Amino acid sequence: MPKRSYTAEEYRDEVAALLPPLPVTPLPLADCLGLVLAEDVVAGVSLPPFDNSAMDGYAVRAADVAAAPVTLPVADDIPAGRVDVRPLEPGTVHRIMTGAPLPPGADSIVQVELTDAGTTNVLVNEAVVAGKHIRRAGEDVVVGDTVLRAGTVLGPPQLGLAAAVGLGTLPVRRPPRVLVLSTGSELVAAGEPLPPGHIYESNSVLIAAAVREIGGHATVLRFVPDDVDKFRAVIAEHAPGADLLITSGGVSAGAYEVVKDALTGQGVEFVRVSIQPGGPQGFGSVDGLPVLTLPGNPVSAALSFELFIRPALLGALGHGVVSRPRAKARTTAAMSSPEGRTQYRRGRHDDGMVAVVPVGGPGSHLLSSFAASNCLIEIPLGVAEVAEGAEVDLILLD
Ligand code: AMP
Ligand code: MG
Repeated sequence: MPKRSYTAEEYRDEVAALLPPLPVTPLPLADCLGLVLAEDVVAGVSLPPFDNSAMDGYAVRAADVAAAPVTLPVADDIPAGRVDVRPLEPGTVHRIMTGAPLPPGADSIVQVELTDAGTTNVLVNEAVVAGKHIRRAGEDVVVGDTVLRAGTVLGPPQLGLAAAVGLGTLPVRRPPRVLVLSTGSELVAAGEPLPPGHIYESNSVLIAAAVREIGGHATVLRFVPDDVDKFRAVIAEHAPGADLLITSGGVSAGAYEVVKDALTGQGVEFVRVSIQPGGPQGFGSVDGLPVLTLPGNPVSAALSFELFIRPALLGALGHGVVSRPRAKARTTAAMSSPEGRTQYRRGRHDDGMVAVVPVGGPGSHLLSSFAASNCLIEIPLGVAEVAEGAEVDLILLD
């Protein structure tokens, strides 16, 4: 039997348990940015694959230019990509471009800047040591090397390396497919005229963006009036193939709590988490689809995602690190907090992480304060007053 009341840590674990690891699948490199590699990657080719020139210039035998300045005949021209490269005869040079294969017999490259750039004969002004400006096969990667380890978060350099060893896809935990549904008869989509008594809907925009930011696929469902049948119909229509449904609104203590009314007894537990804002939460599964129901106030919804859903989704994606970095700083203003809850204030820390300025009050409707913040100030359970200048715990969002 689930509990009715949770600490933030307990609830975070409960939410994480709801989202199992996502399946591993090969995805095109272009779709892998930010995802986690699920298996080691072994190089099928060496890098470079063959000895080649690191400079535009002339392939030479170092002994032939030891007495520079010296003029030598240019016997051939080797652009990058040419494969029928002739051996270099003693006493001659080949003009060669960066990345072109080194001709057999050559032991160094004279860069073009050290010559008169001739094409029939070339004046070489300086001697070179053998091996100069040659990139040897396998210098970077040897065929059979493990070049990327399972668990690596795939950023631009890792994706570039995968392509360099010839891979078109990588095995990753695929992005979660997340449905986002806001409820509230007062809600109007941004861009529409605003009738009296209505407000612009913002939670679905914020939550969907937060899902995408960590590599998930978010589908925003058109929000419905506070009507249980319409709510159920929208979910039933979109549930197939989804990994998670996130709703906002309709879970608190008032009347017309559409999410509570529709999902109570259907596999979702409505509980209280001892945090502020964001106390009323719901979790469970409806017909096999994990469901998380967030309170409607914008900061409550955002904070709920931040504290509970973000780490759970990162875990399902295979990330080793699922929590934000933390720090400590001194608050520039006193704060009070309900003793029985962990309070999350919005704040701005300075670059040196010395001071933090609380931004706005504790109200869960103050979205502009959240948007102006770069951290959360965590005031723990049992603390009612924080004095100006006291050291506080920060969760860093930037
Ligand atoms: P509720 O949890 O449905 O009682 O909503 C709490 C408060 O948040 C109310 O003032 C709602 O108007 C507001 N709210 C609920 N959902 C949204 C939303 N999607 N976007 C912006 N504000 C919302
Ligand atoms: Mg509502």
